[in-house]
Amino acid sequence: MVGTYALSDEHTDFRAAVAEFASEQLAPHAGSWDAAHKLPLEAVKQMADFGLFGLSGPEEYGGAGDFTSLCIAIEEVGRVDQSLGITLEAAVGLGINPIARFGTTEQKQRWLPDLIAGHALAAFGLTEPDSGSDASGLKTRAVREGETWVINGGKQFITNSGTEITSVITVTARTGTRDNGKPEISTFILPAKTAGLVVGPSLDKLGWRASDTHAVSLADVRVPLDHLLGEQGRGYAQFLSTLDDGRIAIAALALGCIRACRDLSRQYALERQSFGGPIGRKQAVAFKIADLDVMAHAASLLVYSAAAQRDRGAPPAELKRSASIAKLYATESAVTATRIATQVFGGYGFMEEYPVARFYRDAKVLEIGEGTSEVQRLLIARALGLPVE
Ligand SMILES: Cc1cc2nc3c(=O)[nH]c(=O)nc-3n(C[C@H](O)[C@H](O)[C@H](O)COP(=O)(O)OP(=O)(O)OC[C@H]3O[C@@H](n4cnc5c(N)ncnc54)[C@H](O)[C@@H]3O)c2cc1C
Repeated sequence: MVGTYALSDEHTDFRAAVAEFASEQLAPHAGSWDAAHKLPLEAVKQMADFGLFGLSGPEEYGGAGDFTSLCIAIEEVGRVDQSLGITLEAAVGLGINPIARFGTTEQKQRWLPDLIAGHALAAFGLTEPDSGSDASGLKTRAVREGETWVINGGKQFITNSGTEITSVITVTARTGTRDNGKPEISTFILPAKTAGLVVGPSLDKLGWRASDTHAVSLADVRVPLDHLLGEQGRGYAQFLSTLDDGRIAIAALALGCIRACRDLSRQYALERQSFGGPIGRKQAVAFKIADLDVMAHAASLLVYSAAAQRDRGAPPAELKRSASIAKLYATESAVTATRIATQVFGGYGFMEEYPVARFYRDAKVLEIGEGTSEVQRLLIARALGLPVE
């Protein structure tokens, strides 16, 4: 396919299957799901039945252990419905991934089978009302009292935290202060129905309207000691490496958006008539669509080379840099792509009846979630050895 990184035959076949599933089962409803402002659990079930939630999970818990397949699925779902694309990305990248990577055997046995099967969804609470990019500025605290951890605080903008099938929310909390004055951060697995954990109302968003996003407050939430994820004090390192994978996956979601813009614009430019012929015969229109193809091609190369690095276990510093580069380029291109597509569609591009209007609203948050564009530039500059603050 033009504009796509050369994948293996197996991955190419998988792409064709998931593309057909997305086009036939999800695309026809994407507009109405968006208008309803609610995660469609029937679509989550269809995606689960297709095996999408288990693509990168460990094989011993029912997963397929392949990150590249996950990126393909997120791209293809995101090509028709960005809300469901982020639902899949967050469920796997933020929900399953930390438990699979850092959990004990008991924790994995308890949570992973249902999450990997897609019968349940997990969320990850890092962001707080007063700390996002500066995640180490968190105020949520966990204090050990005998055989329990008692957690107080709150999390903001947490994807998949309030659905009927949310089983678990993993959160970061301060568990002490280090000698250098910095917070010691640990991660806790909180069953969704734990007393004191209160999920706020669904947030009213500009885009990703069919995805599930809430604030979560934590008031004297008590969990047994074995609900600590990995070692005490390793929370900061855990979320940094979780976000590396997440950034590649968000870049795949952005790639789906760019491809949608290219394909919808191309079709419209062939059909829409002005001044006696299709608008696509005008260079001003055709060149814009050519630019969309360049973005799709470049983003695809960045996403799948980073995914391949992840699958072959590339050194962390190498992966981190590739993830940031892919996320930065693909998400900023997606925002540009939606602006171009809306322009190609003229007044119709501003109408909710046309998917480009939805993509236009959905794209902006790609530059914000899982590390803003500024944070990606910071990481890339640091990887180049620059003494940037
Ligand atoms: C729909 C949605 C879903 C989300 N889902 C989740 C989720 O599931 N789990 C979760 O934990 N979080 C989630 N988030 C939170 C998201 O990751 C944060 O919004 C993001 O990291 C930015 O943090 P902030 O909003 O606090 O912005 P801030 O950190 O306050 O940033 C504000 C502005 O300042 C800039 N800035 C900040 N620091 C610097 C710096 N050092 N150098 C240069 N510029 C800087 C930022 O780039 C940005 O432009 C979600 C957010 C949204 C909108």
